[in-house]
Amino acid sequence: MKILIIGTGYVGTTTGLIFCELGHKVTGLDLDEQKIQALQTGKLHFYEPGLEALLKKHIDSHNITFTKDTETAIKENDLIFICVGTPQGPNGSADLIFVKNVAASIGQNINHYKVIVTKSTVPVGTATLITKVIEENQTAPIPFDVVSNPEFLREGSALQDALNPDRIVIGTTSETARTIMRELYKDFDCPIVETHPKASEMIKYAANSFLALKISYINELARVCDNLAINVKDVSNGIGLDHRINPHFLKAGLGYGGSCFPKDVNALIQTAKEQGNPISILEAVVKVNADQPVYFIEKVKQALGSDLKNKTIAVLGLSFKANTDDTRESPSFILINRLLEEQATIKTHDPIVKMGAPHQFPTIEETVAGADALVICTDWDDYKQLDWESLKPLMKQLYIFDGRNMIDKEKVEKLGFYYFGVANH
Ligand code: NAD
Repeated sequence: MKILIIGTGYVGTTTGLIFCELGHKVTGLDLDEQKIQALQTGKLHFYEPGLEALLKKHIDSHNITFTKDTETAIKENDLIFICVGTPQGPNGSADLIFVKNVAASIGQNINHYKVIVTKSTVPVGTATLITKVIEENQTAPIPFDVVSNPEFLREGSALQDALNPDRIVIGTTSETARTIMRELYKDFDCPIVETHPKASEMIKYAANSFLALKISYINELARVCDNLAINVKDVSNGIGLDHRINPHFLKAGLGYGGSCFPKDVNALIQTAKEQGNPISILEAVVKVNADQPVYFIEKVKQALGSDLKNKTIAVLGLSFKANTDDTRESPSFILINRLLEEQATIKTHDPIVKMGAPHQFPTIEETVAGADALVICTDWDDYKQLDWESLKPLMKQLYIFDGRNMIDKEKVEKLGFYYFGVANH
């Protein structure tokens, strides 16, 4: 099949390369010239393990090309995937401006029957909206179908996730489009959920919100455990072994972040409000998440003294989780901003993210030099293997605040550090 991917970001680039792996010819379209130039030369404009090698492979074998030419790209392809961003709008709902612009371009350039597939996370009713915008922009009534096919990959393991999904969701009312989508995904060994586009759109929000709910649940539970001197990791383990609960998304920490959970939970809250059925449980999820960095900063203040003005704090990790360079809604920045409000001096480090934070240092040693405290924000492997004996003489005071519960508490305490985790007793 000749497939067009519109929006070559994290999702679009990964999706396009997976289709190449399945034997299809793919065109990647983006409005961002720099991204297109990088991709054309086999360079990924973001960090995702394993993806650049796949990009080079399919560029060399001419399975994938990249362009900025919207008109030609739409005319020459039959199956069009919309993978543009759907950021949070001012009232919490998803801003569909990029999706609407794409739909308008498709309407203006459609020249024969096409299937338009939405991979972007979009609110219930967007398939209908896309249909309307395409129709409004057509000069002649050329037939097309719209399919909702949400993406569930995670940054940091995008390739593995996209190659081995737990399920594929296909939402369409068209038998022709359904047949084409079945053919596209025929080599995948996972359940395929075929449903109405509205249900498909809801599935994506419901899934992300449920995962965010698990995170907020364990974080709020951790605060209670902290007061009771209970190790929340034991509690996570004890409940996660119950197959009805499962161990995933039960790690207490600094709260969820990233480009999906915060905006998707808010968008579902907004959808529910618009229907007159507010989802109070998700409103609590958001509140708990916003409170989690505050709870953690309180730990810092209790240990170092309430005045952080003359304190130097080394923040390790800027991305919202390990193995990605995505800093959107990263808890690290929420923490950094709060520490700056307290007039602390901040030094920062990340193994991959090299811009965007105050006082970034290339090495961990330079970052912790002269610091009163070290705060671990991201669960990078680099921070699991720290050589504490060599870091010790560099620091002014020996405080470790472990926002990811990933440091061996006993080991560092034996070396003379003061350790504070998230109910990591
Ligand atoms: P992204 O910001 O990395 O990429 C979006 C791309 O779309 C950008 O490169 C932008 O330049 C391009 N674009 C915008 N308008 C365009 C247009 N008219 N024509 C061509 N290109 C255009 O976004 P992302 O992280 O890949 O997310 C895309 C969608 O997928 C979002 O709805 C997101 O919620 C969803 N999603 C993301 C993830 C994830 O982990 N990032 C996972 C599942 C679903």
